[in-house]
Amino acid sequence: MLGKILLIMRSAQHTQVLQDTLRARGHTVLIVQRALDGLDIARKQMPDLIVTEIYLPEMSGRELTTSLRAEKRFADIPILTILAADKTAERDQCIAAGMNGFLDDPLIPEVFPLLIEFFLSGGSSDVHMDTGRLDEARSRYMHDVVKGLEARIRELERKNSDLQRIDDMKDTFIQLTAHELRTPLTLVIGYTRLIEDYPSLRRVMQNDPGFIPLMQGLTDSITRMQLIIEDLLTTSRIMTRKIELNMSQISLATVIRHVLGTYQEALRERRQYIYFDPSEFPETIRADEGLVQQMISNLLSNAIKYTPDGGNIYFQCEVTGSAVRLSIRDTGIGINADNHERIFGRMNIGGDIMQHTTSKTTYLGGGLGLGLAICKGIVEAHGGKIWVESSGYDPQRMPGSEFVVVMPLAAAPSTKPMPRIKRLDSNPRKPLL
Ligand code: ADP
Repeated sequence: MLGKILLIMRSAQHTQVLQDTLRARGHTVLIVQRALDGLDIARKQMPDLIVTEIYLPEMSGRELTTSLRAEKRFADIPILTILAADKTAERDQCIAAGMNGFLDDPLIPEVFPLLIEFFLSGGSSDVHMDTGRLDEARSRYMHDVVKGLEARIRELERKNSDLQRIDDMKDTFIQLTAHELRTPLTLVIGYTRLIEDYPSLRRVMQNDPGFIPLMQGLTDSITRMQLIIEDLLTTSRIMTRKIELNMSQISLATVIRHVLGTYQEALRERRQYIYFDPSEFPETIRADEGLVQQMISNLLSNAIKYTPDGGNIYFQCEVTGSAVRLSIRDTGIGINADNHERIFGRMNIGGDIMQHTTSKTTYLGGGLGLGLAICKGIVEAHGGKIWVESSGYDPQRMPGSEFVVVMPLAAAPSTKPMPRIKRLDSNPRKPLL
C-alpha cells in the first residue's frame, strides 16, 4: 500500500536512504529537519505515517510524538523511529511516548520498507511490553520530559533577561543620542534665525531672490531634523514609561482642526480630501492635549503618506458610554492582517527601507517606524486602546485602512452641537478650515 510519509530528521544519511528507497517504491515523501516544522507539516498535510529521529533541535522525537498523540486526529497514525535493536531502555521510552515501532539502525533498504508498508496497511505494533515495564518506562520518560522542560525554561529565562538588558541599553542609547543631538541642533536653529534676520543678509535676499529658496531649504531641513529628534525623545519617554500626563479638559475637535491646519499645504498638494464633522465629537474629554495632538498628527501624516493623490481621509467620532471612539480612515494602500499588530511596535515598518524619508507627507515615504509606537504609548498612557482594521495591502485596488482609538472620556460628555462642517476640501479654491 502506498502512502504519504513524513520524515523528521537531521541526519543526511538517514534522510537519503529513506527518501531514495521509499520514493523508488512509489511513496510520497515529505522531509523536514526540525521538530516544530514537523508538527506544522503534520498538521497541514496529514501524512499516513511519520518517521522521526529521536534527537532533534528544540524538542525530541519522543516529545513530538506525545504532542501529536494529544490530538485526536493523530491518535492512529503510525509513528516510527530509527534505533538500534539493542537499545532496549531507549526503545521502551519511545513506546511510553506513544510511538508504534522501530526501524533498526543501521537502515537496511531491503528490510525497512517492508515494515513501513506493514504499518501503512493497518498493521499494529509488534512490540509487547508487560504493564510493569511500560509503567517504569512511562515514569522515566515523564521524569526526563520534566527535567528537560526545567532546563529549557531556565535557558529561556536567561536569554530573556539578556534580551531585556540589550533592549534597555538600546533605549538608553537612543535617549542619550537624541538628547546630545538636541543641544547643538537648538544652537543651529538659533543661529539660522539670527542669520535670517541679519540686516546685510536681508539686503542680499531682497536683491537676489535666488537666495530665498536656499535659506528656506536650510530651515526646512533643520525643522525636519528637529521633528525626528523630538519623535525619538518621545518614543524613549514612552518606552521607558517616563511619560507624565498633563491632564486637562480638551476639545478633540479643536485639536483635530489645529492638526489639519498644519497639514493644509500637503493636503492641497496631494489633492486629498478630509471629511470631518465636529458635531460628532464630545465637547471635551480629559486628556493631555500635547500628546493627543501628536497622536492625531502621526495618524493623519500616515493617512496622507499611504493614500495616493486625490484620495480621501475620514475622521469619525462616537461617544459610547464612558469612552470616546475616534477613527481615522483612508482610501490608501491598506495593511495586511499579519502586520496589524506588528506596525505598532518600534521600527516595525512595512515596505522598502530605501523609500524611507523624513517627509511626513510624500506618497509611500515611510519614516523611522516610530509614529504608531508613539500613538500606542500615548493611547495606553490614557488608559485607552488603538488598533487598525484593513482588508489587506493592495496598492492597485486601494482597500484603505482604518485606525481606531478608544479612550476614556474621564468626564461626563457634553455633546453640545457645534457648527456642522461636512466636507473639508483641500482644493485651493475652497478653504480647508
Ligand atoms: P513610518 O514612520 O514608517 O510611517 P509608523 O510607525 O507611523 O512608521 O507606521 C509603521 C508602518 O505602518 C508604516 O511603515 C506602514 O507600512 C504602515 N502604515 C501606517 N499607517 C498606514 C496607513 N494609513 N496605511 C497603510 N499603511 C500604514
